[in-house]
Amino acid sequence: MPRRVATITLHTSPLDQPGTGDAGGMNVYVAEVSRRLAAAGVEIEIFTRATSSDLPPVVEMAPGVLVRHVPAGPYEGLPRDELPGQLCAFSGAVLEAEAHQEPGWYDLVHSHYWLSGQVGSLARMRWGVPLVHSAHTLAKVKNAALAAGDRPEPAGRVLGEEQVVADSDLLVANTPAEAGQLVDLYGADPARVTTVSPGVDLGRFQPGDRRVARRRFGLPEDGTVLLFVGRIQPLKAPDILVRAAADLVAADPALRRSLTVVVCGGASGNGMGEPAALRRLASVLGVSDLVRFLKPLPPDELGQLYRAADVTVVPSHNESFGLVAVEAQACGTPVVAAAVGGLPTAVADGRSGILVPSHDPADYATVLRRLIAEPRYRAALGRGGVRHAARFSWQHTADGLLDGYRAAMRSRSGHLAPV
Ligand code: UDP
Repeated sequence: MPRRVATITLHTSPLDQPGTGDAGGMNVYVAEVSRRLAAAGVEIEIFTRATSSDLPPVVEMAPGVLVRHVPAGPYEGLPRDELPGQLCAFSGAVLEAEAHQEPGWYDLVHSHYWLSGQVGSLARMRWGVPLVHSAHTLAKVKNAALAAGDRPEPAGRVLGEEQVVADSDLLVANTPAEAGQLVDLYGADPARVTTVSPGVDLGRFQPGDRRVARRRFGLPEDGTVLLFVGRIQPLKAPDILVRAAADLVAADPALRRSLTVVVCGGASGNGMGEPAALRRLASVLGVSDLVRFLKPLPPDELGQLYRAADVTVVPSHNESFGLVAVEAQACGTPVVAAAVGGLPTAVADGRSGILVPSHDPADYATVLRRLIAEPRYRAALGRGGVRHAARFSWQHTADGLLDGYRAAMRSRSGHLAPV
């Protein structure tokens, strides 16, 4: 078992508020598994780029978990597209940090997202330790499912991902679908790919009193609340929910009196996903009065929001897993999700929610119409959601990673170990 792991998350920090900019499920993932790995006796040091001069060089995030803020490039205002230009400075600072420690300080390096993988490749070579890599999203997959108006990921990222896949001792996929993509699209050796499901905090996300939850957000006690939670970007397609709501009220004008669409999250990416563009869309479709925007919420408050909703809608064009879908189900709220990426794993179609095999707002409207009209059906899916979400846990994720770490260390020391 590794004593100490260097975790690299160059472009975003586990200390950031998820749901806006570059902070999302990966941040939650790294924070949750790091705490649990540390509780199991593995020290975790997380390297992330310093994005403000106010940040202390090191923060203890939890017992046994340090976050190291690495200066590389300007503190603020550096878009993700320009981060490749800072890889050298960031890698140099990571190697320097290690050089100040005793020899053999880290037993393993775990990188998240391809930019961190580039740093991890270098650290692996320099330190002679195994590299475990989690891609979280893949450019080839994203480019094959682009939303209208979204920019394709550049060829440089594809190349960078291919290099990291080739260099990694072990690749961790979130779902069997992602494992297949790593093998089929990136030529990964199947023996070096393991699938470990992300989790959910069932203590935080659990069913509760809907009326209390609605009061918290000033939502009407009666009536229907449809919810979108996540980064507002084209890939997540919150516009599909707004368009579906417009379809619903066009077909049944009486619904206008009882329908509220809540969009919770902050700006991220470009184009139609921006909150301002979404507001304009709602206005053009004549449903501005139905749509409420909420700033990103911390996880404890997010539980209340899921409980306040009748249905959570996840219409993403691609989703490597979809933590929001699992969190909503854990709170007893059925999910209507696009049948893409990890969402068919995150949602049990027909039991905990409904998977929609398209991105046509009319198809979402059809599914939502039935859910709105049939409270019993909704309640049955809600109960199914609680059962389905209980299959996922961060402890299980951390245990899976630990197994992967052990296997990577054995294979690196010359004993072949299938994972
Ligand atoms: N999230 C949050 N506050 C918000 C919106 C989102 O804490 O206002 C969290 C949410 O609970 C989830 C994560 O951000 O854990 C989003 O993860 P998901 O896998 O759904 O999407 P990703 O951001 O990874 O694309």
